[in-house]
Amino acid sequence: MKLKDYQQKIIKFDVNGPLADLQQVNFAFLDKVLGLAGESGEVADKVKKIIRDQDGVIREADKTALEKELGDVLWHVATCARYLGLDLEQVAQVNLNKLESRQLRGKIAGSGDER
Ligand SMILES: [Mg+2]
Repeated sequence: MKLKDYQQKIIKFDVNGPLADLQQVNFAFLDKVLGLAGESGEVADKVKKIIRDQDGVIREADKTALEKELGDVLWHVATCARYLGLDLEQVAQVNLNKLESRQLRGKIAGSGDER
């Protein structure tokens, strides 16, 4: 499935409707941004428990649970992008371009958005 198709298919699950290309932060957008942070936290929490309770051993059930949470993260990323009028495929391409540029310049490691 293409990211563009995914981004389009999930609109029907957004209780706030087919919002797009917002010019101002509204409750729906804030809801999705906070949801993204929450779902990312769920991923982190599951990994924490794998370390705490299973000595870091990742079981098949853990992979299944993490797959679902990563999907939740993806849903929120795709919806936030739509609200901003951004195509998810373009978001992915811009990220890939940034990483390739950093790799070419030997800047993969380190910190800072503009390196
Ligand atoms: Mg979740």
